[in-house]
Amino acid sequence: MISHRGPEFRAVFSDSMTMLQNIFGTKREIFLLAASGTGGMEAALANILSPDDPVLVVICGQFGERFVQIAEVLGAKVERLEVAWGEAPDPSLVAARIKDRSYKAVVCVHNESSTGIVTDIASIGALLRDKPALLVVDSVSGVGGIEMRMDDWGVDVLVAASQKALMCPPGLAFVAASEKAMQVIESNSSRSRFYFDLRKAKSAFDKQETAFTPPVSLVFALRTALEMIEEEGLAAVLARHRRLSSALQAGCASLGLPIFPDPRCLSATVTVARVPEGIDGSTIVRHMHSHYGTVIAGQRTKLSGRVIRIGTMGYLSEDDILLDLEYLEATLRDLGVSHHAGAGREAATAVLSS
Ligand SMILES: *Cc1c(COP(=O)(O)O)cnc(C)c1O
Repeated sequence: MISHRGPEFRAVFSDSMTMLQNIFGTKREIFLLAASGTGGMEAALANILSPDDPVLVVICGQFGERFVQIAEVLGAKVERLEVAWGEAPDPSLVAARIKDRSYKAVVCVHNESSTGIVTDIASIGALLRDKPALLVVDSVSGVGGIEMRMDDWGVDVLVAASQKALMCPPGLAFVAASEKAMQVIESNSSRSRFYFDLRKAKSAFDKQETAFTPPVSLVFALRTALEMIEEEGLAAVLARHRRLSSALQAGCASLGLPIFPDPRCLSATVTVARVPEGIDGSTIVRHMHSHYGTVIAGQRTKLSGRVIRIGTMGYLSEDDILLDLEYLEATLRDLGVSHHAGAGREAATAVLSS
């Protein structure tokens, strides 16, 4: 291990933050916190919300619900804008809510991992640009796999984490703040923050350090992962995510597991597919693991049993997708649902070669 206050660490930290800024689409500082993504979500809200502040949370899945819980713990006055799971929030609904109501913040999830949709952050950002309300965005499962242009889109507080499309081990959360957000963060209202106080993170960042001891070894891992993204090229990385997820989606559909979310706003980092009548999603998940050594996910909340979720984030190739589909087909066959042999691979290959 090396000292986290010495020049060696400062170099690793500074390289990593510069590469992350490119992925986030920002010139702003990025605060690195020793936490999972949820710690980043809490840090984002704890630094801007004081008790009784009105906040609008856009909810289209599990992570929007989590933001509501955090905002409530902080004593904010939470208003919910709920969208059916599987659909993306329509920016005009946000426009209607902010028309004659002023909020401290509007909170959105960029890539809703529980349902597989992407929210149109650019349009929501445009609505808020000239308003005092801050736009807070969770892109924990988005950045590095789908496009994020924080500065251009007018995102005020962006939350990400190491373990999703940034393909690092878990344990790092990132929070970036616009100038507009920084003014609020630096104001002295009573807020529940200490470890996650971004004013401390800001003064540390100015010295290319973190406020408290960072997980030094994870920052080494981060730099390596970000170098891999730079080497492949961000545009190529994003295109690969789109291509591989489209292939997987086609493969799932051909096996009788049609894509769950609205096809107009499909995520490229997580595929959510409906399971056939009569089969519980969790049975598929367990069988894939016990028989084929493959880890996919189900859903525990509203969609419990009705969908399976397959991540397509980070270090992933065509072969991974084709093998997943082979195992999925074999699993379905074991569970009594047959298709002509190779149906999933065929559909995916057609997409990959188009
Ligand atoms: C994974 C995830 C999080 C954070 O989860 P942690 O387990 O705390 O890292 C937050 N938001 C979204 C959309 C996620 O997919």
